[in-house]
Amino acid sequence: MRNEKLHKILKETFGHDAFRFDQLDIISSILDGKDTLAIMPTGGGKSVCYQVPALYSDGVTLVISPLISLMQDQVTNLAVNGVEACFLNSTQTSAERRESEEKILNGQVKIVYISPEGLLASSRLNFFEKLNISLIAIDEAHCVSAWGHEFRSDYTRLGQLKEFFPGTAILALTATADSKTREDIIRQLRMDEAKVFISSFDRPNIKYNIYDRINEMLQLDQFIKKEHEGDTGIVYCLSRKKVEKVAIELNKLGHNAIPYHAGLSTEQRLAGQEAFNKEEGIIVVATIAFGMGIDRPDVRFVAHLDLPKSIESYYQETGRAGRDGQPASAWMIYGLQDVMKLSQMLETTDADENYKKVARHKLDAMLSLCETGQCRRKTLLAYFEEDLVDNCNYCDTCLEPGELWDAMVDAQKVLSVIFKTGQSFGAGHVIDVLVKSKNAKVVSRGHDKLSVYGIGHDRSKTHWNAVLRQLLNMKYVGIKNWEYRNLALTQKSGEVLKGEVSFMMKKTKEGKIAALKSKKVMDVSHGRLDLFEELRSMRRELAEEGGVPPYVIFGDKSLHDMCQLMPRNRSEFLLVNGVGASKCDKYGQAFLDVISRNNS
Ligand code: ADP
Ligand code: ZN
Repeated sequence: MRNEKLHKILKETFGHDAFRFDQLDIISSILDGKDTLAIMPTGGGKSVCYQVPALYSDGVTLVISPLISLMQDQVTNLAVNGVEACFLNSTQTSAERRESEEKILNGQVKIVYISPEGLLASSRLNFFEKLNISLIAIDEAHCVSAWGHEFRSDYTRLGQLKEFFPGTAILALTATADSKTREDIIRQLRMDEAKVFISSFDRPNIKYNIYDRINEMLQLDQFIKKEHEGDTGIVYCLSRKKVEKVAIELNKLGHNAIPYHAGLSTEQRLAGQEAFNKEEGIIVVATIAFGMGIDRPDVRFVAHLDLPKSIESYYQETGRAGRDGQPASAWMIYGLQDVMKLSQMLETTDADENYKKVARHKLDAMLSLCETGQCRRKTLLAYFEEDLVDNCNYCDTCLEPGELWDAMVDAQKVLSVIFKTGQSFGAGHVIDVLVKSKNAKVVSRGHDKLSVYGIGHDRSKTHWNAVLRQLLNMKYVGIKNWEYRNLALTQKSGEVLKGEVSFMMKKTKEGKIAALKSKKVMDVSHGRLDLFEELRSMRRELAEEGGVPPYVIFGDKSLHDMCQLMPRNRSEFLLVNGVGASKCDKYGQAFLDVISRNNS
């Protein structure tokens, strides 16, 4: 009986056909009055876990969130689904706040968004104590934990909630929590008996692709044009300078790109965020400063032009793609320079040796993900201690298994050059000597007179970069001096020089073939690309008219579904994923008209 009613709410209000992951179990646990901790990957659908019970129960649900800037969006999002919600925070004028309070007192709203410090102010507590609070949801709950990576001291005060609202169940939600953070959340929030739900970290709608860097801009441009023309995406770079440069280049190549990094003024950054939230087909080129608080569900690709420091970062950053569950890409290129640069950054910090040890371990894990010949998704999940039984069959290694070849002779050539040039030069110089460059530095050092000069002239610099990268990763080459990144032999080098081990390498992959092959996987318009584009522009029009982001009108999945179902009337339109009664009334006819035009 209860489940039936919950499904009805999910379908009629939010337009979803079924609960995902642990959503139903989480909701049931809360409705049974139990404190609950829900860990779900980004895009898993955490909001449903408190929005559905909020509508099911009498009284009002409080949602505590640190992201004040997103509250307005969340309220707008609910409003188009016909759910009355409001927020209380410091950005409001006192008149606005009074208006919200009145609505709450009159029982007009089901959901109230509020910041932790806002709720715990004594006047506010008195206000809420008089009301029937059905549920308290704490979003981004990892912020209570000093173990977590985004600790906020105002969150620790949330432990007091149990005193003030002893009979109300608390639902803590987060996307990132290792076991230590998990225990800490439960302790801090005094949810001793909490039921814990951990959803899988698998994101089957994300296609992981990692390639060798050959020509950065060309590869990026091709990737976007072939697979994501007109889509919204994020391009991550390591430095501010590179962010600026790449944004300019992308615009020259005909894309709509804006830069985003911590060096911009507050206004510039706000404008950037605003544009990213509202526009279709926008590409934000950013340092990792861009991320926290990105709520847009229809980011179709995340591209990395530089290697992240750890798999945790990679997972979090790529996780911003495809939160709506629709096909999305995580695409990265990397090369020898990344390995050198990140190692250098790590080794030259003032941090203690213990920290460095952990950081080295994390970087090594990231590199193994890049170099692996196994399914990327499988490797990624294995890192989070999850076992994926079958290969995903759509990451680059699944589609295009790297052919292995015996690179022993080439490895020996590199080692010989490093040795013969005195183990006091960087990668650039070593490769110059290999390929017989007449570079002034080579000549002035007399390295053009060495027996090893030009022993690798038959292969490209890119090739030697890849060989050297693998030698470094496998510790057959070390770095002697972090300031100049000079290369040197290691204790293990002898094994290669004497031919005691095998040294196999994957063929260099630029990603062209995979890009073509994977097109099929990405065809979600059911062969009706023109219709899809028209539906997109109708959505854009309505969004502009209503002053809301396009995805608030309908998510990509809804548009794809329209292409497949080709609904002809209101009752058929209600079958489309993401269409509830309220949205059907508001926007149904406009989209039905577009579809019927295309059908005639
Ligand atoms: P999170 O907060 O966990 O990152 P959201 O709550 O923002 O995720 O939901 C992400 C997307 O998934 C939204 O577009 C939402 O409409 C969609 N979604 C949530 N639950 C379901 C479901 N049961 N079926 C289909 N789509 C869902
Ligand atoms: Zn795979």
